[in-house]
Amino acid sequence: MNIKIIDGIKPRFNETAMKNRLRITEPDDIEIFDEMIETAMKSVRPKVAFCEAYITGRYDDGVEVNGRRFKCNLMKNNLAEVNRVFPFAATCGRELYDWAKSIDDIFIAYWADHIMEVALRGAIAGLYDTIMKRYGVSKLSSMNPGSLEGWPIEQQPSLFELLENKQKEIGIELTESFLMVPQKSVSGLLFKSKSGYTNCKLCEMTNCPSRRDPFEPGLREKLTEA
Ligand code: SF4
Repeated sequence: MNIKIIDGIKPRFNETAMKNRLRITEPDDIEIFDEMIETAMKSVRPKVAFCEAYITGRYDDGVEVNGRRFKCNLMKNNLAEVNRVFPFAATCGRELYDWAKSIDDIFIAYWADHIMEVALRGAIAGLYDTIMKRYGVSKLSSMNPGSLEGWPIEQQPSLFELLENKQKEIGIELTESFLMVPQKSVSGLLFKSKSGYTNCKLCEMTNCPSRRDPFEPGLREKLTEA
Protein backbone atom coordinates (compact mmCIF):
# COMPACT_ATOMS: atom_id res chain seq x y z
CA MET A 1 0.00 0.00 0.00
CA ASN A 2 1.09 3.50 -0.66
CA ILE A 3 1.36 5.30 2.68
CA LYS A 4 1.58 9.05 2.40
CA ILE A 5 3.20 11.37 4.88
CA ILE A 6 2.13 14.99 5.22
CA ASP A 7 4.84 17.14 6.74
CA GLY A 8 5.45 20.87 6.62
CA ILE A 9 1.97 21.82 7.83
CA LYS A 10 1.92 25.33 9.30
CA PRO A 11 -0.71 25.43 12.04
CA ARG A 12 -2.41 28.74 12.60
CA PHE A 13 -2.06 29.95 16.17
CA ASN A 14 -4.87 32.44 16.73
CA GLU A 15 -3.35 34.00 19.82
CA THR A 16 -6.40 36.06 20.77
CA ALA A 17 -8.71 33.05 20.63
CA MET A 18 -6.19 30.92 22.51
CA LYS A 19 -5.79 33.50 25.29
CA ASN A 20 -9.56 33.80 25.58
CA ARG A 21 -9.93 30.03 25.79
CA LEU A 22 -7.23 29.85 28.47
CA ARG A 23 -8.52 33.00 30.20
CA ILE A 24 -5.13 34.65 30.05
CA THR A 25 -5.74 38.32 30.88
CA GLU A 26 -2.98 39.49 33.21
CA PRO A 27 -0.16 41.42 31.47
CA ASP A 28 2.56 39.17 32.97
CA ASP A 29 0.72 36.05 31.81
CA ILE A 30 0.17 37.52 28.36
CA GLU A 31 3.90 38.15 28.06
CA ILE A 32 4.73 34.55 29.07
CA PHE A 33 2.15 33.14 26.66
CA ASP A 34 3.37 35.31 23.78
CA GLU A 35 6.90 33.99 24.38
CA MET A 36 5.57 30.43 24.42
CA ILE A 37 3.85 30.93 21.08
CA GLU A 38 7.05 32.39 19.66
CA THR A 39 9.02 29.35 20.84
CA ALA A 40 6.36 26.93 19.66
CA MET A 41 6.26 28.52 16.19
CA LYS A 42 9.97 27.80 15.78
CA SER A 43 9.72 24.09 16.58
CA VAL A 44 6.18 23.03 15.66
CA ARG A 45 5.98 20.28 13.01
CA PRO A 46 2.60 18.57 12.97
CA LYS A 47 2.51 15.48 10.76
CA VAL A 48 0.11 12.97 9.29
CA ALA A 49 0.41 9.45 7.86
CA PHE A 50 -2.52 8.20 5.80
CA CYS A 51 -3.49 5.91 2.95
CA GLU A 52 -6.37 5.02 0.69
CA ALA A 53 -7.96 1.68 1.58
CA TYR A 54 -10.99 -0.39 0.61
CA ILE A 55 -13.62 -2.49 2.32
CA THR A 56 -12.71 -6.03 1.31
CA GLY A 57 -15.24 -7.93 3.42
CA ARG A 58 -18.47 -7.38 5.31
CA TYR A 59 -19.54 -9.54 8.27
CA ASP A 60 -22.30 -9.69 10.86
CA ASP A 61 -19.97 -8.25 13.48
CA GLY A 62 -17.64 -5.99 11.54
CA VAL A 63 -15.75 -5.33 8.33
CA GLU A 64 -12.50 -6.18 6.61
CA VAL A 65 -10.35 -3.31 5.38
CA ASN A 66 -7.59 -4.17 2.89
CA GLY A 67 -7.76 -7.76 4.11
CA ARG A 68 -7.58 -6.86 7.81
CA ARG A 69 -10.56 -7.88 9.91
CA PHE A 70 -12.10 -5.44 12.40
CA LYS A 71 -14.68 -6.81 14.80
CA CYS A 72 -16.66 -3.64 15.37
CA ASN A 73 -20.36 -2.96 14.89
CA LEU A 74 -19.81 0.79 14.70
CA MET A 75 -17.56 0.29 11.67
CA LYS A 76 -19.95 -2.22 10.13
CA ASN A 77 -22.90 0.16 10.40
CA ASN A 78 -21.08 3.38 9.53
CA LEU A 79 -19.41 1.81 6.49
CA ALA A 80 -22.46 -0.09 5.21
CA GLU A 81 -22.67 2.07 2.08
CA VAL A 82 -19.00 2.97 1.82
CA ASN A 83 -16.31 1.17 -0.16
CA ARG A 84 -13.34 3.47 0.31
CA VAL A 85 -11.83 4.71 3.58
CA PHE A 86 -8.74 6.66 4.59
CA PRO A 87 -6.90 5.25 7.63
CA PHE A 88 -4.79 7.95 9.26
CA ALA A 89 -2.65 8.98 12.21
CA ALA A 90 -2.05 12.66 12.93
CA THR A 91 0.10 14.28 15.58
CA CYS A 92 1.07 17.67 16.96
CA GLY A 93 4.64 16.45 16.42
CA ARG A 94 7.41 15.17 18.62
CA GLU A 95 9.21 18.52 18.53
CA LEU A 96 6.41 20.34 20.33
CA TYR A 97 5.82 17.41 22.66
CA ASP A 98 9.46 17.38 23.77
CA TRP A 99 9.32 21.14 24.37
CA ALA A 100 6.11 20.82 26.43
CA LYS A 101 7.57 17.92 28.43
CA SER A 102 10.38 20.16 29.62
CA ILE A 103 7.93 22.54 31.33
CA ASP A 104 7.58 22.00 35.10
CA ASP A 105 5.08 24.71 36.05
CA ILE A 106 1.60 23.18 36.06
CA PHE A 107 -0.20 26.25 34.67
CA ILE A 108 2.36 26.82 31.94
CA ALA A 109 2.21 23.11 31.10
CA TYR A 110 -1.57 23.46 30.69
CA TRP A 111 -1.04 26.31 28.24
CA ALA A 112 1.54 24.22 26.38
CA ASP A 113 -1.03 21.43 26.22
CA HIS A 114 -3.44 23.79 24.49
CA ILE A 115 -0.75 24.89 22.04
CA MET A 116 -0.18 21.20 21.17
CA GLU A 117 -3.94 20.77 20.75
CA VAL A 118 -4.06 23.63 18.25
CA ALA A 119 -1.07 22.14 16.40
CA LEU A 120 -2.89 18.79 16.20
CA ARG A 121 -5.97 20.54 14.82
CA GLY A 122 -3.69 22.02 12.17
CA ALA A 123 -2.51 18.50 11.26
CA ILE A 124 -6.10 17.27 10.97
CA ALA A 125 -7.09 20.26 8.83
CA GLY A 126 -4.10 19.49 6.57
CA LEU A 127 -5.28 15.89 6.23
CA TYR A 128 -8.86 16.84 5.28
CA ASP A 129 -7.57 19.41 2.82
CA THR A 130 -5.18 16.89 1.20
CA ILE A 131 -7.85 14.20 0.83
CA MET A 132 -10.39 16.63 -0.60
CA LYS A 133 -7.91 17.99 -3.14
CA ARG A 134 -6.22 14.70 -4.07
CA TYR A 135 -9.23 12.38 -4.15
CA GLY A 136 -12.07 14.85 -4.62
CA VAL A 137 -13.84 13.51 -1.53
CA SER A 138 -15.84 15.91 0.59
CA LYS A 139 -18.30 15.41 3.45
CA LEU A 140 -15.75 13.33 5.31
CA SER A 141 -16.50 11.87 8.72
CA SER A 142 -14.07 10.36 11.18
CA MET A 143 -14.18 7.32 13.45
CA ASN A 144 -11.46 6.79 16.01
CA PRO A 145 -10.53 3.71 18.06
CA GLY A 146 -10.91 4.36 21.76
CA SER A 147 -12.80 7.63 21.44
CA LEU A 148 -16.04 5.76 22.09
CA GLU A 149 -16.69 2.28 23.38
CA GLY A 150 -18.15 1.43 19.95
CA TRP A 151 -14.62 0.98 18.54
CA PRO A 152 -12.39 -0.62 21.18
CA ILE A 153 -8.97 0.97 21.68
CA GLU A 154 -7.43 -2.53 21.54
CA GLN A 155 -7.89 -2.35 17.76
CA GLN A 156 -5.40 0.51 17.51
CA PRO A 157 -2.54 -1.83 16.43
CA SER A 158 -4.71 -3.24 13.60
CA LEU A 159 -5.40 0.28 12.39
CA PHE A 160 -1.67 1.03 12.45
CA GLU A 161 -1.04 -2.13 10.44
CA LEU A 162 -3.18 -0.59 7.69
CA LEU A 163 -0.66 2.26 7.81
CA GLU A 164 2.17 -0.30 7.67
CA ASN A 165 3.18 1.12 11.05
CA LYS A 166 4.38 4.30 9.39
CA GLN A 167 2.97 6.24 12.35
CA LYS A 168 6.41 5.59 13.84
CA GLU A 169 7.92 7.70 11.07
CA ILE A 170 5.89 10.68 12.22
CA GLY A 171 6.91 10.16 15.86
CA ILE A 172 3.86 8.36 17.28
CA GLU A 173 4.46 5.56 19.77
CA LEU A 174 1.88 3.23 21.22
CA THR A 175 1.95 2.39 24.93
CA GLU A 176 1.05 -1.05 26.31
CA SER A 177 -2.42 0.30 27.05
CA PHE A 178 -2.77 1.38 23.39
CA LEU A 179 -2.51 5.10 24.11
CA MET A 180 -0.59 7.27 21.71
CA VAL A 181 2.45 9.36 22.59
CA PRO A 182 2.45 12.32 21.98
CA GLN A 183 -0.95 12.42 23.64
CA LYS A 184 -1.98 15.14 21.20
CA SER A 185 -2.27 12.60 18.42
CA VAL A 186 -5.34 11.08 16.84
CA SER A 187 -5.86 8.05 14.63
CA GLY A 188 -8.85 6.67 12.82
CA LEU A 189 -10.65 6.23 9.56
CA LEU A 190 -12.01 9.00 7.39
CA PHE A 191 -14.96 8.06 5.23
CA LYS A 192 -17.59 9.77 3.14
CA SER A 193 -20.74 10.07 5.20
CA LYS A 194 -24.10 11.21 3.88
CA SER A 195 -25.45 11.54 7.40
CA GLY A 196 -22.53 13.66 8.65
CA TYR A 197 -21.50 11.19 11.36
CA THR A 198 -19.47 12.60 14.25
CA ASN A 199 -18.41 10.88 17.46
CA CYS A 200 -20.01 13.76 19.38
CA LYS A 201 -23.48 12.67 18.27
CA LEU A 202 -22.93 9.45 20.24
CA CYS A 203 -21.22 11.04 23.23
CA GLU A 204 -23.12 12.12 26.35
CA MET A 205 -20.29 14.11 27.89
CA THR A 206 -21.63 17.43 29.12
CA ASN A 207 -19.71 20.71 28.98
CA CYS A 208 -17.12 19.36 26.54
CA PRO A 209 -15.37 22.42 25.05
CA SER A 210 -14.59 20.48 21.87
CA ARG A 211 -18.14 19.30 21.12
CA ARG A 212 -19.00 19.65 17.41
CA ASP A 213 -22.56 18.32 17.35
CA PRO A 214 -25.31 17.80 19.93
CA PHE A 215 -25.82 14.35 21.42
CA GLU A 216 -28.44 12.37 19.49
CA PRO A 217 -30.33 10.01 21.83
CA GLY A 218 -30.65 6.50 20.40
CA LEU A 219 -28.02 6.93 17.67
CA ARG A 220 -25.29 5.13 19.62
CA GLU A 221 -27.54 2.13 20.17
CA LYS A 222 -28.51 2.15 16.49
CA LEU A 223 -24.92 2.30 15.21
CA THR A 224 -23.38 -0.14 17.68
CA GLU A 225 -26.05 -2.83 17.48
CA ALA A 226 -25.22 -6.12 15.73
S1 SF4 B 1 -18.35 15.62 22.95
FE1 SF4 B 1 -16.20 15.97 23.40
S2 SF4 B 1 -15.50 14.05 24.33
FE2 SF4 B 1 -17.44 13.61 23.31
S3 SF4 B 1 -16.83 12.87 21.30
FE3 SF4 B 1 -17.21 15.09 21.11
S4 SF4 B 1 -15.22 16.05 21.40
FE4 SF4 B 1 -15.05 13.93 22.14
